[in-house]
Amino acid sequence: MSDCLFCKIIAGEVPSKKLYEDELCYAFYDIDPQAPTHFLVVPKAHIPGPHAVTEENAAAVGHIYAVIAKLAAELGLENGYRVVANDGPDGGQTVGHLHFHVLAGRSLAWPPG
Ligand code: AMP
Ligand code: ZN
Repeated sequence: MSDCLFCKIIAGEVPSKKLYEDELCYAFYDIDPQAPTHFLVVPKAHIPGPHAVTEENAAAVGHIYAVIAKLAAELGLENGYRVVANDGPDGGQTVGHLHFHVLAGRSLAWPPG
């Protein structure tokens, strides 16, 4: 999608601190980290958010969770981490391309605000 920030990051049109990439997904560090480790994993396909996950595109979501587990192990996040996908205004979504936040490196409060 031409006016989507994360599509532009995936295409290399907007710079990012890349952590991982394969045919289905792209991982990069969040520009405004909310924890000592905070990165995002996004499908390369433009999916507007969690509400737009369907039986047809859900394989990318499962793949992303497997990638997150692999990256967490590589980064030494053995004390745990949180995976968050925000949706819509009430969910706090600010970028309309499905993304999974991975937050780690401190004890995270629950429930979220
Ligand atoms: P959300 O609020 O759940 O939609 O998350 C969007 C996230 O994207 C926020 O945590 C932002 O800090 C992050 N973000 C926005 N622009 C960039 C960028 N150019 N590079 C990396 N992360 C970004
Ligand atoms: Zn997009």
